[in-house]
Amino acid sequence: MNYISTRGNAPAQTFSQILLGGLAPDGGLYLPETYPRFSADDLAVMRGMDYRELALTVLARLADDIPVADLKALIDRTYTAATYCHGRPDSDFDQIAPVRRLEDGLYLLELSNGPTLAFKDMAMQLLGNLFEYALEKAGQDINILGATSGDTGSAAEYAMRGKKNVRVFMLSPLEGMTRFQQAQMYSLQDANIHNLVLRGVFDDCQDIVKAVSNDLEFKGRYRIGAVNSINWARVAAQTIYYFNAYFAVTTANDQTVAFSVPSGNFGNICAGHIARQMGLPVHKLIVASNENDVLDEFFQTGVYRPRSAAETTHTSSPSMDISKASNFERFMFDLTGRDAAKVRELWGAVDQGGAFDLKRHGLFERVTEYAMASGKSRHADRMATIRMAWQRFGVMIDPHTADGLKVGLEHREAGIPLVCLETALPAKFEDAIVEALGRKPERPAGLADLESLAQRYEVLNVDAEAVKAVIAAHAND
Ligand SMILES: *Cc1c(COP(=O)(O)O)cnc(C)c1O
Repeated sequence: MNYISTRGNAPAQTFSQILLGGLAPDGGLYLPETYPRFSADDLAVMRGMDYRELALTVLARLADDIPVADLKALIDRTYTAATYCHGRPDSDFDQIAPVRRLEDGLYLLELSNGPTLAFKDMAMQLLGNLFEYALEKAGQDINILGATSGDTGSAAEYAMRGKKNVRVFMLSPLEGMTRFQQAQMYSLQDANIHNLVLRGVFDDCQDIVKAVSNDLEFKGRYRIGAVNSINWARVAAQTIYYFNAYFAVTTANDQTVAFSVPSGNFGNICAGHIARQMGLPVHKLIVASNENDVLDEFFQTGVYRPRSAAETTHTSSPSMDISKASNFERFMFDLTGRDAAKVRELWGAVDQGGAFDLKRHGLFERVTEYAMASGKSRHADRMATIRMAWQRFGVMIDPHTADGLKVGLEHREAGIPLVCLETALPAKFEDAIVEALGRKPERPAGLADLESLAQRYEVLNVDAEAVKAVIAAHAND
């Protein structure tokens, strides 16, 4: 199976060819040329599978140029209880992405028991093993450059630590992350992990990544790569838990399920869309935004208007503080009937810092065909929802998951199971939990003294040349 670009002007590629890259050369994002589809018979067999078997069944279709035996070995190494049960200290617990029943018809999909206590581990850990495998095969190495405001950086570092032929250079802002998030990243002592702390804010970090990546000579010489949220393998790996959760909350494949997803870059919910395209009986996908409501505005009005950095506010669900939803173009490619010329036209405006209005293109009705819903959750909603979940269900949820639960409940329909995706554990966001509940969240075993561990990082000015110098000094370690 081949992958094509949403902008229609790049050669078709295999899964392995796009694994290490980012954007397609024409500026678009890669998607399968046609979605593999699971038949009713396939789904009947899949209902009996555990997480690893499901992962292999789904990924064998999407990564069909990797020999199945190799893929199986990578999956078996990735999806283990040892990696995915950090958040569940009960020693006999061995499930990957379990579903917790809150009440009849309402469920929490636990995706945050991995090493960094956020859902990004679900895909990133696989990416680490896939990268190592592909680089070894090709006899190459890579220097991953990224910017983080919290969860992405730590998920990437925990996935890539100790991997052969991979080095990570992660830029983070001096202020802005929680102490827990800082300690998670900076306490890593692996020689291939480099934390570069910039005297600036997250946007400065992102600008430097762009500046370095735009220096094509430097990029080529030092084999600069990325693991950001547009990486196709991450999206592909995220489809697995939609299948797993569907089977967990239904008893037969003629039932449908709604999913509510705390969203920022549209990567997580994009995976839900793709699972549905592959035949998963999804009733509806619910997009939850925080105060940074680019996505909610689009699904309410048809206007997609990315915000400037100045218009992006810092909230108590910081991992959703995005100004533009980088995976959204994938969904729009399907929504336009895979009309690459239309996508080029729409993003012609977006790439100039503008907006588009789908109603003007006569395409807004299609949003209904794809059964999407959306809503917005603000700080006070978030706090109230954390309290509600604690009092009513005895479950402590993090601020992002609270946004998803709040918006999910607004769209709940009788007779349709509602699965709310848990995107982080409350331990990562202690201050917000104390504000909501007047008590600290529990720490998973082994993380009690995280902040007192020795830290390893380098502080730099907001200066692309300084960052390049560090990369150059370590690029051949
Ligand atoms: C990354 C992240 C999100 C947003 O996910 P997208 O795939 O970018 O939409 C939501 N919650 C948490 C805790 C995250 O780390």
